[in-house]
Amino acid sequence: MRHALSNLMGAAVELLFPPECTFCGGQTESQDHTGLCGECISEICIDSDAEFCDHCGVLSLSTVLGLSKCPECDKRNFRFDHIVPLGLFRSQLREAMIRTKQFHESPLARSIGVLLAERLQKKQTVQPVDFVVTIPKYWLRRVLKGSTGTAPIAEEIAKNLRIPYFPHALHWKRNIRKQSLLSVTERSRNVRGALELSRGFDVQDASVLVVDDTMTTGATCDEAAAVFKRHGAKYVAVAVAARASNLDTLDAIDLKSNLNQSAVGAM
Ligand SMILES: [Zn+2]
Ligand SMILES: [Zn+2]
Repeated sequence: MRHALSNLMGAAVELLFPPECTFCGGQTESQDHTGLCGECISEICIDSDAEFCDHCGVLSLSTVLGLSKCPECDKRNFRFDHIVPLGLFRSQLREAMIRTKQFHESPLARSIGVLLAERLQKKQTVQPVDFVVTIPKYWLRRVLKGSTGTAPIAEEIAKNLRIPYFPHALHWKRNIRKQSLLSVTERSRNVRGALELSRGFDVQDASVLVVDDTMTTGATCDEAAAVFKRHGAKYVAVAVAARASNLDTLDAIDLKSNLNQSAVGAM
């Protein structure tokens, strides 16, 4: 009886205040668990059918072609075992990720977290993980600029995968320069040896999921993976909302659309 009454109350509240899409503000489908309307889900997940390299996360045909590594993998040997991006840093996902940097956009960040959790669950190649961590913000930057969108994304992933989220597992030993202002080589040098496992965390034999909002060179996630591996973690996967595109990635998009067109033409 009480359950029926609360359902009725919920329906009445929804009728009076229909849930708004966290991206466009339009009405969402009733009971939608992502907080987004159908149109925004398809626009944000525009790359849902794209094939990303399991090892470095760039758009690649290596998985389709059955190759274990892509040409980009030859340039960098990442210390994480696996990476799953939601999409490329472009179009509506790009806009969403820029917006989630603002504190009041945490509902949108949560929606991205739900979508990324679903992507992880669909990816058969990702091994089960024990807990979720994020790349911390240097404390001074956190005080000056507040929280970022990464925490709500990670929280939602942990909730959906039913595993714990440890926001303080890692910390910076020293201040680092802003990665976006640096070149590829400078970025690796900037974060090298700068992350540390926080006291009280035992990751021996653990399988860890590192969550980040955007990835460009992957230097920071690589450094985080190295810290966990050094402390005995057996598996480190990375989930990233947006993988920044580079020239190679754009080449791969062209290549893929050309392949699709020739496949259609051949039929
Ligand atoms: Zn919408
Ligand atoms: Zn690769």
